Amino acid sequence: MTSEREFTGQVALVTGASRGIGAAIARRLAADGAFVYVNDRDPNEAAKSVASGIREAGGRAEAVFADVADTQAVEAMFRAVESEHGRLDVLVNNAGIVKDGLLATMRDQDWQRVLDVNLGGAMICTRRALRLMMPARRGRIVNTSSIQALRGGRGQANYAAAKAGLLAFTRATALEVADRGIRVNAVLPGFIDTDMTARVKRVGGDQVLERIPVGRLGTPDDVAGVVRFLCSADAEYVTGQGFVIDGGLTIS
Ligand code: NAP
Repeated sequence: MTSEREFTGQVALVTGASRGIGAAIARRLAADGAFVYVNDRDPNEAAKSVASGIREAGGRAEAVFADVADTQAVEAMFRAVESEHGRLDVLVNNAGIVKDGLLATMRDQDWQRVLDVNLGGAMICTRRALRLMMPARRGRIVNTSSIQALRGGRGQANYAAAKAGLLAFTRATALEVADRGIRVNAVLPGFIDTDMTARVKRVGGDQVLERIPVGRLGTPDDVAGVVRFLCSADAEYVTGQGFVIDGGLTIS
């Protein structure tokens, strides 16, 4: 049986955690005892306030800044983690962006940046995290993919390709590190109520709702709970998998 404070003594880093799904994951892991690094791209109050909110609630957290697509910045961030704690037990590659547009007119930079952040960022952070996890022969990595990895999405060729790549990356990495005690899984959220989906909600919210069998949008906490499970001892035999969290949208 797992204790309520499952992650006591463990160190976690959640990328893109200044708001939305990442912030919920950071809070959840901290509530279960982990020291959580709350990452965001540039120094800003939002990430600092997620970390201070965790501390005020009795948890342990610190904001750290690095653009996940910038190898040097990620290196500096991990060096700080290494010197402060000397370990990393959990990495959640959550940072993601959209730059939607029809493919026929998509700008090169909108294709590239979405691939660089959503897919490249996960690679850069995972590669660096493994240098801490492999010698420890222990670690859990969760990548935030999307149901668009399975379905595609009009105006989202860049995003769907990145998230499908992230799923393949999850499986390939899981195979490479399974014998080192490191598990790598992915979550595939559906329509989660965050800033990222605010425009779709405003323009076509009712139509989206009609297609979701459970009858509501997802919340960041819906995703955080599954991430928490994947990082827990209850998921010790689970690796290389993708978990759809969509209220039944993809089966409707
Ligand atoms: P969000 O509210 O837009 O938050 C995204 C977070 O990522 C923010 O903290 C953002 O920081 C950060 N970020 C962006 N680029 C970054 C970079 N280069 N380096 C570090 N951090 C960066 O998004 P969300 O809805 O919570 O989504 C979180 C993840 O879930 C994403 O990977 C997204 O693709 C995925 N997802 C979301 C949904 C959904 O319905 N919301 C569905 C499926 C998958 P700033 O505040 O500085 O921009």
